[in-house]
Amino acid sequence: MLGLMQQHPLLISSLLVHAERHHGAQEIVSRRVEGDIHRTSYRELAARSRRLAKALAVLGVGMSDRVATLAWNGYRHMELYYAVSGSGAVLHTLNPRLHPDQVVYIADHAEDKVLCFDLTFLPLVEAVASRLKTVKHFVAMTDRAHMPASKIAGLLCYDELVDAQDDRYDWPQFDENQASSLCYTSGTTGNPKGVLYSHRSSVLHAYGAALPDALNCSSRDVILPVVPMFHVNAWSLPYVGCMTGAKLVFPGAGLDGKSLYELFESEKVTVSAGVPTVWQGLLAYVDGAGLTFSTMKRTVIGGSACPPAMTRAFQDKYGVHVLHAWGMTEMSPLGTVCSFRTKHLALPPEERLALQAKQGQAIFGVDMKIVGADGKELPWDGKASGELLVRGPWIVEQYFKGEGGDPLQDGWFPTGDVATIDPDGYMQITDRAKDVIKSGGEWIGSIDLENVAMAHPAVAMAACIAAKHPKWDERPLLVVMKKPGAELTREALLAFFDGKVAKWWIPDDVVFVDAIPLGATGKMQKNKLREQFKDHVLPTA
Ligand code: ADP
Repeated sequence: MLGLMQQHPLLISSLLVHAERHHGAQEIVSRRVEGDIHRTSYRELAARSRRLAKALAVLGVGMSDRVATLAWNGYRHMELYYAVSGSGAVLHTLNPRLHPDQVVYIADHAEDKVLCFDLTFLPLVEAVASRLKTVKHFVAMTDRAHMPASKIAGLLCYDELVDAQDDRYDWPQFDENQASSLCYTSGTTGNPKGVLYSHRSSVLHAYGAALPDALNCSSRDVILPVVPMFHVNAWSLPYVGCMTGAKLVFPGAGLDGKSLYELFESEKVTVSAGVPTVWQGLLAYVDGAGLTFSTMKRTVIGGSACPPAMTRAFQDKYGVHVLHAWGMTEMSPLGTVCSFRTKHLALPPEERLALQAKQGQAIFGVDMKIVGADGKELPWDGKASGELLVRGPWIVEQYFKGEGGDPLQDGWFPTGDVATIDPDGYMQITDRAKDVIKSGGEWIGSIDLENVAMAHPAVAMAACIAAKHPKWDERPLLVVMKKPGAELTREALLAFFDGKVAKWWIPDDVVFVDAIPLGATGKMQKNKLREQFKDHVLPTA
């Protein structure tokens, strides 16, 4: 017997319709690349998104056509999120930090038809425009007054396209399994692969993300997504905004500590989200200027491991609670979030901090397990570590155009991460499989070692990589960037590890560098460091 309830497809446009009807006056604030602060509302967002949907149709964008963006977080990007997906086309968010050759490869692979870009990225677009095989229209995301002189023939003006239409438009209804948006993995090994989200997966993921033990968002929140809208849909915050009616604040290109801090304060931001490297800049600024946060309640930190030293600084110094989260492009991206259970609230502060080094508990919708080298499931004892596999309705089944073959193992997606899971179900990533240091047949997790190094007051950033060793095959080598003006010797840093990790885990050597290379999503590029130090001779060798 079937249930007797209504069938409504879970469509991205329904989020916007909800926000317009129920939270129409709620504000959306953006720092624009034109230099000013722009204010709009969900009501205006909905109207302009309908106009934009009509404008896209005039440009010949049809069902499932790809519309690409090269843009910061801002209201125009948000309009594209809704107009493109809502009209049945596919929003393809390109990462502007990629090498131009990669942008060309990805845009060609996606067969993008229209490319919309912020003025910042005009030089990049001009550099690649003639090589893009499928793009028919280039749209500068600005108004007539700011239209640049450009070599691109027939460059269109975004605001003109929107203004040329009225807002009488009904969002089309279609199968919720239709594709809504497309993101490519960063492809540290091999070519980038496309992850093609559906309306259903995106809406379900937004429900999961908003839950109290996940990002915990409501209409009382003011959310500033620092995580870019070109990085896995800004962890779904543009959708969560409409779903909950929260005020949204978009930082545009101003991702330095000072610009972010000013926006946090002036717009009374309560929640933010981003990768650890961005928070480093913010904390350094706030520390240096002796400031405090007056409205910030919590921040979501993920994308790479959040060092406990950072959690401590946010919580103890500034009263901003840290939610350590884990996910990946293939997971829309959220998988786990580290929020407390009742029993944790009474723990001594140091134990709570240790718990927060874990990536946390699965959100409903994500099932996970760890397996050993033989593929057999490992116990949830917080000790056994193995490859982490996941499954669920917002997790990839196949890459776009079948790239790379069938990624699943018995219906589970292998994440490439190595993790432990404790008896409460709190997962902790020890490493990426390709970053694990294999010392004499035993594995050493680099994240633990980096966390220790990051707790040293003179260390700004630390990466631990495997260096060749004649006896042990590999031993840990710590690559360290010091804080400006800080004094630190190799011996002092190694001594700092005493008693904090097992003796045989202590790195064999430390090298100091001016900068650690970061990838397009702000993560340390260990493959580059491994290449740089491939001939490094350890003093223990
Ligand atoms: P890529 O960097 O490969 O493009 P993603 O941006 O999707 O891909 O990153 C996913 C990977 O980032 C995860 O598989 C994991 O290795 C790492 N990651 C994400 N969040 C965390 C976290 N909180 N702690 C440790 N690693 C993380």
